[in-house]
Amino acid sequence: MFDNLSDRLALTFKKLKGHGKLSESNISEALREVRLALLEADVNYKVAKQFIAKIKDRAVGQEVMKSLTPAQQVIKIVRDELCELMGGEAEPLNLGGKAPHLFMMVGLQGSGKTTTSGKLALMLKRQGRNPYLVPADTQRPAAIEQLKKLGAQIQVPVFDSDPAQDPVDICIQSLAGASRAGCDVIILDTAGRLHVDLELMAQLERIHSRLHPQEVLLVADAMTGQDAVNVAQAFHEQLGLTGVVLTKVEGDARGGAALSIRAVSQVPIKLVGVGEKLDALEPFHPDRLAGRILG
Ligand code: GDP
Repeated sequence: MFDNLSDRLALTFKKLKGHGKLSESNISEALREVRLALLEADVNYKVAKQFIAKIKDRAVGQEVMKSLTPAQQVIKIVRDELCELMGGEAEPLNLGGKAPHLFMMVGLQGSGKTTTSGKLALMLKRQGRNPYLVPADTQRPAAIEQLKKLGAQIQVPVFDSDPAQDPVDICIQSLAGASRAGCDVIILDTAGRLHVDLELMAQLERIHSRLHPQEVLLVADAMTGQDAVNVAQAFHEQLGLTGVVLTKVEGDARGGAALSIRAVSQVPIKLVGVGEKLDALEPFHPDRLAGRILG
């Protein structure tokens, strides 16, 4: 991720370093290039504009321009602001309060929701938790089988959902199943659609209002760039998301969704999917990513 952005910024800052002392126009020119690089990385237009304005505010000041290493100072400001843009601190999953902890996975079809439910179960299991998987995607019958298979692979119990049942009933009945199995984190894999629609949202709202999950995680495909950002905004308005899991980031050279989702929707990215394998799920660290972008 961020390969092109990283290369472009390196070039811009190399030029900036070549100036020695910096004038306001040197900084403006560099920031113009940063803005273009962000837009090419598919960062939301408004986000890029606000980002540059913020950096300019901080960079065009006596302190930076008079310092012995003004270009370094500008680069540091860009790094800090990139980190801020992606949410600043890493946001861990909320496992507070009394068990069982209820996690609801939502997202569009094909985003990687079912796979991510399995990955998340494995991650929690490795942390010493006892996860329980609940296939509540009756829309795509193969999804139930898919989750059962994943559960068997990682040896995590899966609720025996009946595709003819109402998803809300499946979720409610799964609580007793989880309790019988002695599980402390319940992961509800809900239905997706090819696009955000009223019927999908109504079903998710019904599940949400009956079960009050403590995490509502949107699984979004990084490769879809600004579409993922719009999906995050739409789901957040309807359901109140607590976090985003951005999938397929290893195949996303641009990184626009990772850079824009937080700023546009206010929802933090908590985890990233970095491959098809079940252990390819990682916490999202804005500071490390900002460091990587700037080399
Ligand atoms: P769902 O319709 O949202 O439940 O999507 P699935 O879980 O069936 O995933 C759709 C496809 O995306 C599958 O082929 C997954 O293996 C793949 N996938 C999910 N997460 C990742 C990821 O982080 N990286 C890659 N490369 N593929 C992923």
